[in-house]
Amino acid sequence: MKHQETLLNTLLTSNSLNGLSLDEIGEDHLYTGIDTPMKPDAFKVSDNEKKEKIADLFSQIMDVMGLDLTDDSLKGTPQRVAKMYIDEIFSGLNPANKPKIALFDNKYQYNQMLIEKDIQFYSNCEHHFVPIIGKAHVAYISSGKVIGLSKLNRIVQYYAKRPQVQERLTNQIAVDLQNILETEDVAVIIDAKHLCVSSRGVKDDSSSTITCFYGGAFNKQEKIVELQNYLKS
Ligand SMILES: [Zn+2]
Repeated sequence: MKHQETLLNTLLTSNSLNGLSLDEIGEDHLYTGIDTPMKPDAFKVSDNEKKEKIADLFSQIMDVMGLDLTDDSLKGTPQRVAKMYIDEIFSGLNPANKPKIALFDNKYQYNQMLIEKDIQFYSNCEHHFVPIIGKAHVAYISSGKVIGLSKLNRIVQYYAKRPQVQERLTNQIAVDLQNILETEDVAVIIDAKHLCVSSRGVKDDSSSTITCFYGGAFNKQEKIVELQNYLKS
């Protein structure tokens, strides 16, 4: 416990960015890079050990808040939360859960843009650990290779299942698809609602956040217009 307090205090007092405090960075949802910040030893501990530890720590949070953990309704909550974190909503942190993607030759010689739109996803804000709910639109122009349509969806879900900020989610999906598809010509547009903005803080229920990545051939005015026209319909 003593060690944890010291670690937290060191982190809180030592870090700031452009003169902003850690609290301000979180409230303004600034992000610090394309890679999810992970410790080098993140996967030395097994999933089962992680679940046990999270359940223990989560029961402490509930206890501190004064909840009665002997109540039948609350008893199983720490274990449920731990399982949900590791197996479901944060499963995308573990590279072992990355979808396996096979590349195929573009036999139909289709060389225009392909768009998979309205890919519904659920993620969580890394600053507040509450949901980000949104839709991703993903497009690419084949360089001679294609992937199954459902794989575009799976890539979106994989990166969504991490504590996220929307800009990083957008870029992680786009850069991974560029690598998989062996082309720069990838675009990703995300339109999402952040529950930390709508249900707390400024309590703005009507706003949504749009982020986009236009790589290669998509980084031209006419391609952007073409893509946006398809998304309108
Ligand atoms: Zn947030």
